[in-house]
Amino acid sequence: MIDHMQHQLQIIPIPAFKDNYVWLIHNNHKAIVVDPGDAIPVINTLQKLNLDLQTILITHHHQDHIGGVDILLETYPDVKVFAPKLEQYAFTHQRVGEPDNVYLGDWISAAKVIDVPGHTLGHITYYIEHWQNEHQQQWLFCGDTLFGAGCGRLFEGTPAQMMTSLQKLAALPVSTQVFCTHEYTLHNINFALTLEPTNKALIQRHQDVLALIELGLPTLPSTIALELATNPFLRTDVTEIQSSLFLEKPTKLQTFTKTRELRNSY
Ligand code: ZN
Ligand code: FE
Repeated sequence: MIDHMQHQLQIIPIPAFKDNYVWLIHNNHKAIVVDPGDAIPVINTLQKLNLDLQTILITHHHQDHIGGVDILLETYPDVKVFAPKLEQYAFTHQRVGEPDNVYLGDWISAAKVIDVPGHTLGHITYYIEHWQNEHQQQWLFCGDTLFGAGCGRLFEGTPAQMMTSLQKLAALPVSTQVFCTHEYTLHNINFALTLEPTNKALIQRHQDVLALIELGLPTLPSTIALELATNPFLRTDVTEIQSSLFLEKPTKLQTFTKTRELRNSY
């Protein structure tokens, strides 16, 4: 018999820098953080909630995702760090990549690693299916690959790599909750509306996001269903987007590439 109370998990965002979120998963006792770019807000939150940090998950090597790891390791010496096997890290860690499953302890299901080259070449995401109150929850920690109504910049990979990576994430269950690392949703929606001004789901999301921001709340997590309905980078076959880009019978990749190019300077 599973003790459901013991397995009741919470996921909360710890704001860092201007627009980063360090996602914290906990069961009121043990904790995991994803992409701790800054240690101080993480330590403050762990102390306030009286949590024991057990694991750090890293999605890619950018400083705003790893900058807090050294201090967290000094503060919590027993913490295990997992990071992409295709990238180099100075701190002690276990190298992971697809199709690894990362064991996170007996209080939470293992995380499946999904390779998503594009933003960086080694970028990985962590996907967790966890049973809670007799319902299966699906959680995706996607770093800087998928954003609310957007995607990460192509610092290292090609548009084709990023498009393939996003399609892998888009194929996850539509009820998957999507935990992105940056609060870019409103700017992404404003851009998406220039390409798809009549998309009702997008117009509705714009209203919803404005209301959340007004209340000082995060616009995340998103869901795969919401991204499929509103994210132009997952909607490369939509005629309205293609004609907004002045492309004639484009391939999905041409539509994706042009959308990414325009977003870079938006
Ligand atoms: Zn990044
Ligand atoms: Fe980032």
